[in-house]
Amino acid sequence: MKNAVFLFVFFVLISGILMGCDNNGVEEEQSDGLAITTSFSVLGDIIDQIIGDRGHVDYIVPIGEEPHEYEPVPSDFRNVSDADVFYVNGLDLEEWLENIVENVTDTEIVTLADGVTPIPLEGDDEADPHAWLSPKNVIIYVENLVNDLKERDPEGEAVYTENAEAYLTELEELDDWITEQVSQIPEEHRVIVLSENAFKYFGEDYGFHTEGIWEINSHEEGTPRQFARLTELVIERNVPGLFVETTVDTRYMETISNESGVPIVGEVYTDAVGESGSGADTYIDMMRHNVEVFTEGLM
Ligand SMILES: [Zn+2]
Repeated sequence: MKNAVFLFVFFVLISGILMGCDNNGVEEEQSDGLAITTSFSVLGDIIDQIIGDRGHVDYIVPIGEEPHEYEPVPSDFRNVSDADVFYVNGLDLEEWLENIVENVTDTEIVTLADGVTPIPLEGDDEADPHAWLSPKNVIIYVENLVNDLKERDPEGEAVYTENAEAYLTELEELDDWITEQVSQIPEEHRVIVLSENAFKYFGEDYGFHTEGIWEINSHEEGTPRQFARLTELVIERNVPGLFVETTVDTRYMETISNESGVPIVGEVYTDAVGESGSGADTYIDMMRHNVEVFTEGLM
């Protein structure tokens, strides 16, 4: 993180010099509505569904990377400091970034997971941040988002209300569909084993036990003890299949699979949506993909 702070200071110096040269007291025009920045692609899509033509959304952590340990580059800070608002997940996900942002820009930080009941990390007081992996929580995110947007841009109220109603209906349909899909999986097979134990909120809402090689990507990853514990557990519980995520090196889970003889049966999206054209480039499509993979893999 020292690196990031250094880069940021560098960026502030450079931009200060540049502004001194060409600004001449003329404010940069923002003609295309609200400039919104958010931390990662999943929130980017959710905001996109609501904002309509009232603004545009950028996200910091690129698709394929995970937000827990991401090291920001100077353009990320420029992006946040130029924004009207910086929407974050909260539940300590972006703490590293918020600390830096708070010190160096006036951009307001708004937390979308406010009001979600936190689930603690195993053996820790810290909250698990992956609340977005349950659509029931994303309904709360959308409510927070819409309340903030209406205050920030009162003229857009009708647009936000209409888009939110449509999107909340889709989320409720997704929720019903998940319940229906899950009911096909034999109860004793409802175990999600991933590298990072990211589906705790999902598991609690839809009746899955969840396990990871590790609890969260920001902790130690892939120690001999973690491998031994999970290998023993998947054999003991007779787990039908293991899963990998698009944002974590799959070699960790391959080790568990080789040692336990339990196959890897699918890849899911946790900390990023899919690339465009993947069929999972929105939150709703990524969750549909995930649930299909779970259902097929655990039957
Ligand atoms: Zn994660």
